[in-house]
Order: sequence, then C-alpha cells, then structure tokens
Amino acid sequence: MSPYQRLNKHIQTIEQHYSNMPQFIQAVNEVGDDVARYIQQSEQPHLWRAFTVLTEPDRIIQFRVDWENDNGEFQSNRGYRVQFNNTLGPYKGGLRFTPNTKIDELMFLGFEQTFKNSLTGLPMGGAKGGADFDPKNCSESEIRRFCQAFMTQLAHHIGPDKDIPAGDIGVGTREIGYMFHQYKNIENEFKGILTGKHPTFGGSCIREEATGFGCVYFSEHMLAELGQNLNNKVCCISGAGNVALYTAKKLLQRGAKVITLSDSRGVCYFQDGLTDSDLEKIIEGRQQRKRLSDIDEVNGDYIKDEKPWQYSCDLVFPCATQNEIDGEDAAELIRHQPLAVVEGANMPCSDSALDLFEENDVLVGPSKAVNAGGVAVSGLEISQNRSRLSWEATHVDERLQQIMKQIHEQCKQHGKKGERIDYRQGANIAAFLKLSQALSFTGLLA
Ligand code: GLU
Repeated sequence: MSPYQRLNKHIQTIEQHYSNMPQFIQAVNEVGDDVARYIQQSEQPHLWRAFTVLTEPDRIIQFRVDWENDNGEFQSNRGYRVQFNNTLGPYKGGLRFTPNTKIDELMFLGFEQTFKNSLTGLPMGGAKGGADFDPKNCSESEIRRFCQAFMTQLAHHIGPDKDIPAGDIGVGTREIGYMFHQYKNIENEFKGILTGKHPTFGGSCIREEATGFGCVYFSEHMLAELGQNLNNKVCCISGAGNVALYTAKKLLQRGAKVITLSDSRGVCYFQDGLTDSDLEKIIEGRQQRKRLSDIDEVNGDYIKDEKPWQYSCDLVFPCATQNEIDGEDAAELIRHQPLAVVEGANMPCSDSALDLFEENDVLVGPSKAVNAGGVAVSGLEISQNRSRLSWEATHVDERLQQIMKQIHEQCKQHGKKGERIDYRQGANIAAFLKLSQALSFTGLLA
C-alpha cells in the first residue's frame, strides 16, 4: 500500500471509531484532504504515520463538578480536558462553558488547537476543555462557585510545564480570575497555570483584544495580496463576544464600516455603520452580562431570529461558533460576491459552505490561522510569567502583528495555487509539516 492509500485507510478507521463525533471527523477530514494530496506528491512515507499520531488525542480527562446553587441545592455537571498533543510544548488551549459542550466538540477543538498553536511558532501543544454548564442562567455567585468547583477537579491535571488552559466561549477574564484564585488555595502556589488573567495579577496586556485584533491583521494581509486595504470596506460580523467585539474595534480603527453583530437570538444591523460610541456601550453592556438586544442607546436595529448573512458586504467575519455558516447561508452570501470570509470563530463554515465559497472564488481565511492571535498572546503571557515581567501593550501588539504576518507567510508558502492562495491548504500543510518534523525526533515515526 502506498503512503497515500494508508493515510486514506487511516481516515476511514477514524470515521468508524469516532462515528459518534461528527465535528471531530469534519475537522480531521478537512486537514486529511490536504495532507493526503501533499503526501501523494511528496513521497515522504513517514508523513502518513505522523498523521495517524496527530489524529489521536494523548489523553481525555472527564470529571464531575459538584457545586451549590443559590437555593442551597447541589448541582452536578460534566467537566472535561482533552490533552490532544504535546509534541511542541505543554498542552495549551481554552476552556468553554456552554450547555452543549460535549466530548465531540472538545476533540475537534483540541485537534484544531494543536495545528493552530503550531502556526504561531511558539512552543505550545494543543488541548481544549470545558463543561456542560450554562452561565447564562446563573447568578454571579453561582458562576463563581461553579468555577471554584471546576478548578478543584482540574487542578491535578494542569501545571506550567504540563497544561495551561485559558478562556473560550463562556469563560472570560472574570472566570479565569475565580479559577486562578481557587488553584492558589489548593496548591498554595502562584504559578502561571492559566492565561487570560487580568493584567493586575500576571495577565498580558492586549490578551482580551488579541483574537479579534489578530483576525483583522490577518485580513489586512489577505487584502494586500489583492492590492487592497480595509479602508471603507463593508464588513458583516457575527457574534457579540470577545472575538467579535475586538474584531469590530480594530476594523473601525482601520476605517472599515461594520454593519452587523449578532447573538444566538438575532442580528443587530447598523445601517449607517457601527460607531465607536456604540461599540463602547456594547462592550460595557456585555461585561455586565447583558444580552445584545438589551443594550440601549445603540444606533442599530435588533432583528430577532435573523442571521447576519443577508446583507451585501465586502468582508465576512464569522466570530460566533462552529458551523454557524451552513450551505444555505453561504448561498445567500455569495449573491453579494464578498471578497473574503475571515474565520474568527473555530471552524465556523460547514463543509458545504466551504465548497460553495471555493466554487465561487470567495477567499476563505481558515480559523486555525486567522484566530491564532489569541493563543499567540497567551504564549506571550506564559513568557512574561516565566520571566516575572509584564510587557507594555505596544510591545505585545507588535509581537502579535509579527506573528500574524508570519502565519500569513506560511499560508502563502504552502497554499500557492497559481495566482491564488488556498489559505486552508497553506495553514494545514504548514502546521502539519512543523508538527511532523518535531515528531520525527521523538522516534515515533521510525
Ligand atoms: N480559546 C482560544 C482559542 O480558541 C485561546 C486559547 C488559549 O489562549 O489558550 O484559540
């Protein structure tokens, strides 16, 4: 059997074994298609073996989280940490608290994170974790008690040389603060075991903004390849979390016009464009855990049950969640011929959406490259913690810009197809080659 056939056979076994994990299979296939093509051309037999290692998590940890609600009743949730791969460094990746968090989602995210972290050029492995906990229906003290109970279970599995979680959906600076404090109480040690901390106690400047800012820096490089820039570009953003709001902020700084934000219940449409003062009010409201629709004095129309994909725009920034753009949404978007879809969320485009974008020449910036700025600044936070220093915001921002530039260069190097750049292929192959090179030194590929 040729390495190419072996690789395809391996993908089939993954599909069988993990048949109850469609999102994980989707992510593996997306990378697998590109790697298979590369292997067919390169004839490096050890590469198929690297792919088999990289598609199996090192470890899956599951635990029960018992916490007390405001009525004095105990509740139990499921907590998880998927330590996917530590070839390049300690496990690194976020924690998400949503009611539907399951192992399938965390497997796909841990796999993606391993590739994303490789692209940053920083020494970080890949992991993801979280719990099926819904902070939306809880009081502030319930959230705090949940975070403490969650860390009580997780503390044994993490450490600055082992696994360094951060935030993700439902986990922001505040939750990181609660968990960090609980870890100190358990271990009596002030260690860099989480990133995304507030800068007052070891967090990095720009960490909160980093994912969104990084998305915009990446989009600027994509546009520069087309001889264009962001000035006056009309942009549709989905989401109203950290990624969406700081993507909006940087876009406004660059002179672009942002016409939408959204949440799971509807879209907020800004006919004349989102203004700085609207955005400030929204950021403040979201910090107070308000819903987008409940934030007053904003010059936008909130339309229930609508998505942001019906409006004519130049750039699309899906910044909410996985598979949020399906085939139908993509068909809707294509009517307006946007220049590019820039994936701020992890894997926000379904397979059928990606096929449609490709057929219609819409460029796609893939999430593992586009949203790597968040984890990159987490990597810089680790360096600052290790050296017991805190860097100035301008310095961190410069480093972030350099990292996004070199991620774009890697995509270009491995994604060139004639005049065009296939960013997805570029990101997948660049990350895979780095990981497989490191793996070849472990002896596992012999
Ligand atoms: N949750 C973010 C991501 O998806 C950041 C992870 C981190 O900083 O460790 O990349």
